Amino acid sequence: MQTLRASKCGLSTAQLPAYILDVIDALTKAGYEAYIVGGGVRDLMLGLNPKDFDAVTNATPAQVKEVFGRRCRIIGRRFELAHVYSGRELVEVATFRAPPKKEVTSAAGMILRDNNWGTIEEDFARRDFSINAMYYQPRKGIVLDFCNAVEDINNKTLRLLGDPKTRFEEDPVRMLRTLRFAAKLNFNIANEILEVFTPELTNLLRDVSPHRLYDESQKLFTMGHLNRVLPMLIDFGIWQQLFAEINPTVTTFIERAAKNTDQRISIGKTINPAFFYAVLLWELFLKRSEGYLAKGVTPAEARAQAGLDVLKRQGTRTIIPRFAETFIREVWEMQTRLLNPKPQQIAALSNHARFRAGFDFLLLREKSGDTNTQGMGMWWDSYQNMTSDEKERAIGQYNRQRAKNRRKAVTQDDVVDTRVQVQAEIEPLVNEPETRNRRTRKPRQHQENRTSVASTVKGEIGADHPILKRRRVKRDLAEVVFGPTQ
Ligand code: ATP
Ligand code: MG
Repeated sequence: MQTLRASKCGLSTAQLPAYILDVIDALTKAGYEAYIVGGGVRDLMLGLNPKDFDAVTNATPAQVKEVFGRRCRIIGRRFELAHVYSGRELVEVATFRAPPKKEVTSAAGMILRDNNWGTIEEDFARRDFSINAMYYQPRKGIVLDFCNAVEDINNKTLRLLGDPKTRFEEDPVRMLRTLRFAAKLNFNIANEILEVFTPELTNLLRDVSPHRLYDESQKLFTMGHLNRVLPMLIDFGIWQQLFAEINPTVTTFIERAAKNTDQRISIGKTINPAFFYAVLLWELFLKRSEGYLAKGVTPAEARAQAGLDVLKRQGTRTIIPRFAETFIREVWEMQTRLLNPKPQQIAALSNHARFRAGFDFLLLREKSGDTNTQGMGMWWDSYQNMTSDEKERAIGQYNRQRAKNRRKAVTQDDVVDTRVQVQAEIEPLVNEPETRNRRTRKPRQHQENRTSVASTVKGEIGADHPILKRRRVKRDLAEVVFGPTQ
């Protein structure tokens, strides 16, 4: 074990937020040892901005509770921890852990319960990577390094503590963590890990609870290097474990979405990790919908049922919480609405709670070459940047174009198959001149009248049919919740 001067490692208390110092000081004052450990120390040493700071102590969770009283809650069963609230922040305070007892490991060697308190040396040996196992005491200005982790930091190497195969068997999630840290920190994976990191070993992930795997998938999606980690997940056979039914290929759409997610994170924007699930599962959803359509189900029911099926199947690997499932299904449902909106619903749609996510999704599809969006991604993109007058004109133009397309569709097919969405490409939005003089307008109206009569005969209602001129009661779409059969 070597004791390093914190200042030599580039660490100083000035980099630390008050909430973590407050926790360390309170524990020290009560006579316990307390350190900052894990990702916080690692990231500071690498000059990165830590996501959070975790504390570790020789006080048991019950003793931590005594120190912090109502500011502390004890959580977890497999892994008992104290959650301490410091101001508005929450700090995880773990107790030094000893090796697990035999009877709490599964037949495959997986640790099922892990609440055996121990010494700092024992706690160190239980951690995953050397770079995650440095103990920083900010008030003493020291870092305890038990395995020359500083060298791994300098060499940018990810090294597991102990025998890699055993460590993966104890907790298969460490395989996922390996790829996450390698991608996030741009580190090399040590050879001894690569040697054992086989597809057979990744099969162990099947025994991990889908709740835990969902949490891990969230961390992958939000770490800021999603695009880098996706091919690694495929190469190491982890993708197949996490997303069993999703074809292990980074399609242009998935790649774009991943880059977009990373970019948003790099500029400090929020992201909803469920959005990326919506992207990953999109192809499966479409295929499944087609299957239902082929059976003669209505399009709305096909979409609703396909959505439920796809999410249910994914749930056997990573259980997506109900609120995230709803979000995903709404984003998918928005695709239909944004693709072929009724003109009178356009304004309300753009105010819908799910509009932004639905639109982002549509535009991503379009930009990755999905021609089924029929140019509507760009249409909505322009629409949002218009003044209200321009919007009104754009809707008018859209309305005319839509009517034209419908008439075309009707003359093409005598029987309109409601299962197929017939819609020719909508012309991109152009800023139309404000007023058109009557002379240019008249012949057009005349023409439209004629065709609309023809189309009415075929059972279609033209854009200028009296029924469309009726004043409609505006439904506030922002209030509408998409039900399964809508
Ligand atoms: P992040 O930047 O994602 O927070 P982190 O290293 O802090 O990275 P956490 O999941 O917050 O990761 O865990 C905190 C610390 O707990 C880790 O640094 C590591 O020392 C230890 N740890 C976490 N998960 C495991 C595990 N599965 N096996 C062994 N040690 C672990
Ligand atoms: Mg952490």
